[in-house]
Amino acid sequence: MTRGWTKTDWRAKPRIQMPDYPDAAAVKAVEGQLAKYPPLVFAGEARKLKAALAEAAEGRAFLLQGGDCAESFSEFSADNIRDTFRVLLQMAIVLTYGAKVPVVKVGRMAGQFAKPRSAPTEVINGMELPSYRGDIINGFDPSPEARIPDPQRMLQAYTQAAASLNLLRAFSTGGFADIHRVHSWTLGFCEQDKAERYRDLSNRISDALDFMSAAGVNGSTSHNLSTVDFYTSHEALLLEYEEALCRIDSITGQPVAGSGHMIWIGDRTRQIDGAHVEFCRGVLNPIGLKCGPSTTVEDLKVLMAKLNPQNEAGRLTLIARFGAGKVGEHLPRLIRAVREEGAKVTWCCDPMHGNTIKAASGYKTRPFDSVLREVREFFSIHKAEGSIPGGVHFEMTGQDVTECTGGLRAVTDEDLSNRYHTACDPRLNASQSLELAFLVAEELTT
Ligand code: PEP
Ligand code: MN
Repeated sequence: MTRGWTKTDWRAKPRIQMPDYPDAAAVKAVEGQLAKYPPLVFAGEARKLKAALAEAAEGRAFLLQGGDCAESFSEFSADNIRDTFRVLLQMAIVLTYGAKVPVVKVGRMAGQFAKPRSAPTEVINGMELPSYRGDIINGFDPSPEARIPDPQRMLQAYTQAAASLNLLRAFSTGGFADIHRVHSWTLGFCEQDKAERYRDLSNRISDALDFMSAAGVNGSTSHNLSTVDFYTSHEALLLEYEEALCRIDSITGQPVAGSGHMIWIGDRTRQIDGAHVEFCRGVLNPIGLKCGPSTTVEDLKVLMAKLNPQNEAGRLTLIARFGAGKVGEHLPRLIRAVREEGAKVTWCCDPMHGNTIKAASGYKTRPFDSVLREVREFFSIHKAEGSIPGGVHFEMTGQDVTECTGGLRAVTDEDLSNRYHTACDPRLNASQSLELAFLVAEELTT
C-alpha cells in the first residue's frame, strides 16, 4: 500500500505537539521495551473494523465513537471502564433501533492518553507552567516537576491500556453485553420524571425484543444478542509510542498500529507534510481525520490522497468538528471536495470540540443544546448534499459528572464545580449521553 514507507520516517518531519524529553537515552530505553511487548490489538481486528466502517460510509451501518477526552492514570478503575462501556452499549441499542442498521461501537478508550494543547504553557493559580499534555507525557498536578515529560509514563499507559482492553474484551463476550440486560438499564432511565419523551421509543425497543424472544431469537440462540464487537481508538499524537507498537500484519505483510484499532489525526496535527500524517499513512488501520473550520478544500484533497491512495472504503473517516452554527459554512465545501475526488470516506460528526466555552465560573464547558444543534446541522446538510452521515463522536463518561451544561437533569453553570473530574475537555455524563442517543435516533428515523 505504501511502498518505501518505514515507521521511523515521521522523525524527519517537524515535531509538533510532542514533548521535548530531557533525557534521550531514557526515551530510547522505553521504546526498546515497548517494541518487545505484545501489540494491544491485532491486524485482523483492525481490518474487520475497516470493513464495518466501509458499511457506515454507505449508510448500511452507523458509527458510535465515544469516551473520555483524556484517560488518566488516577481515574483508572474497573468501575469507570464498565460504566462508560455500559452507556455506549445503551446508546448503541437506541441508535440501532433509530437507524435500523448495525452500530459500529468504538471507544475513545484503552489508549486515549496524549493531548494536543493550544499553548505550550498555561497559568494555574497565578503560576505559569508547561501545559499538561496527557498522562502518557506529563503529570496533571500544577507543579513544575510534574510537568516535566517523563518517558516512563509510556510504559504505564501501555499497561493501563492492556488491562482496559482485557476487561473490555471480557465485558463484550462474557454476558455483560446481553441486549436484554443492557436495555433494562435504559428502561430504568426512562422511568424518571422528564424522560417521558423517550419512553415511547424505549418501549418500542422492548416490544421488538419481546417479539424476537417469543420467536425463539434470544441471547442463547443468537450470538449477536449476547455479545458485541467493541473497538478502541485514540489520537495518534505521541509518535514514539505509536512507532514502538507498530507491527507487521502476518497476513498482508503490511504495518499495523498495535496501539488501538482505529487511530486519528487531530485538528492541530493534520499538516500535509507533518509527522502525524506521515506516520498514519503507512499503517493499515482505519484512520480518522479531524476536520475543523481551518481545513481547506486543497488540504483535504491532498490528505485524502496521502492517507488513502487506494481509495479503500472504510480506511478514512472524516470527523467534522465545526461548532453549532458553523457547519453550514464549512461542511458543504468539504463534502463537495470529497465528491470531486470520487473519494470514499465515512463522515462522522464530533459536536464537542467546536462547542467549548468558558462558563462565568471559569470552567470549560459545553452546552448540551449546542452539541445537539451541531449534530442536527450535520444531518440536515448531508441530506441536502445527498451524502451519508455515517456516525457520531462524543466525549462522554458513564459517571455522573457535571462538566457539560444542560440535559434533562439540567446541569447549570453553578453546578459545574460539584463533580468536574475531567483531565482535559468537558464530557457528557451518563444521562446526557443516553439522552443524546435518543435525540440522534429521532434524527435517524425522520
Ligand atoms: C480531541 O478529540 O480530544 C481533540 C483534541 O480534538 P480536535 O483535534 O478535533 O481538537
Ligand atoms: Mn477533547
